[in-house]
Amino acid sequence: MNKPVIVCLDLEGVLVPEIWINVALKTGIEALKITTREMPDYDQLMKQRLAILDRHHLKIGDIQNVIENMGPLEGAADFMRWLRERCQVIILSDTFYQFALPLMRQLGYPTLFCNQLEVDDSGRIVNYHMRLPNPKKQAVAALKALNFLTLAAGDSYNDTAMLGEADAGFFFRPPDHLSKEFPQFPVTRTYDELQERFMTAGKFC
Ligand SMILES: [Mg+2]
Repeated sequence: MNKPVIVCLDLEGVLVPEIWINVALKTGIEALKITTREMPDYDQLMKQRLAILDRHHLKIGDIQNVIENMGPLEGAADFMRWLRERCQVIILSDTFYQFALPLMRQLGYPTLFCNQLEVDDSGRIVNYHMRLPNPKKQAVAALKALNFLTLAAGDSYNDTAMLGEADAGFFFRPPDHLSKEFPQFPVTRTYDELQERFMTAGKFC
């Protein structure tokens, strides 16, 4: 008997555009364009982002306004529907519940494991809190311990531990330098290619 399949997906860059890049474009703040695709140290990246928001007096509401107007990537909603008819799906993201909610609505509220922002009464983001260290890798390890066959896809540095932990891990539209650094993960560029990979690895059709 085959194990039941659970697919773990990164959010930004896989199902929705990069939130911070959209904030950078909307606000014109160039330094906010740096993401986990370029910077491996997420703590350093988030501290830098929060300091930039403070310098420009940007509040949680300003970011949420940008996110409200972002849709999922083209084809993402259909891809999610296709996948959820065939196996269990969990989104593992390093983003924050306060940011992700409007996007989850547009994807039919899939299960999302992510983190929390600490916001003061004025709407200033004062800190961020990860649920635990290495959250994506630990989630996949826990699902394996529950006897699921785990498949995963992501596009950034913060996904590589998850892809390595999963029974099968795939890149989806990674930057070239990342796929060169981690040649062990097959690269997919379209949802059709990712579906093919999942069907083969998960033995479903
Ligand atoms: Mg990503």
